[in-house]
Amino acid sequence: LHFECSRVQLFKVLVIGDLGVGKSSIVMRYVNKCFDERYKGTIGVDFALKSIEWDAKTVVRLQFWDIAGQERFKKMSRVYYKGTMGAIVVFDITNSCTLEAASEWKQDLDSKVCLDSGHLVPAVLLANKCDLTGRDGDVVSSLDSFCKDNSFLGWFETSAKDNINIEEAGAFLVKQMMLCD
Ligand code: GDP
Repeated sequence: LHFECSRVQLFKVLVIGDLGVGKSSIVMRYVNKCFDERYKGTIGVDFALKSIEWDAKTVVRLQFWDIAGQERFKKMSRVYYKGTMGAIVVFDITNSCTLEAASEWKQDLDSKVCLDSGHLVPAVLLANKCDLTGRDGDVVSSLDSFCKDNSFLGWFETSAKDNINIEEAGAFLVKQMMLCD
């Protein structure tokens, strides 16, 4: 007889932010451990799964939802947000407009979905493309207060291209989701 004593935790995670900030590339890096410049988000990782052996008793399954091509609306339908248990909001560190947009995305999220407990969906902010030289030091130094004002649990400078902080950011979000669960 085989006794199954591990539990499987399934988490729906939304990846939101403006077009071109690197959402698809981040999911590709985190899930498939690769980066492809030629890869076009519109073709869509609209859906990706990653399993993690979290501890001896727990397998975490992350289900990523990429908004694939609907960015221009700066909002999504409630149906899409339903059941969301975590969010990754991405902006491009070389383009401060995309940081302002991150605030709008976060507001759209919080206005349309919350956890069963009534708490906000745990969300992490990613300042992507930190490999580029156009990285704005002023933007980076404003991120602590930006996160406080917009109720993000934390932020990371990331590069999907050079594989910087992607794994760390993912683990951080999973930890937060496990705490909420
Ligand atoms: P999305 O529209 O938010 O899904 O963005 P994509 O993942 O399609 O990326 C948009 C463009 O930015 C593509 O040309 C990617 O190759 C590029 N890109 C994504 N992440 C990075 C990164 O970390 N560094 C650099 N230099 N380029 C990136």
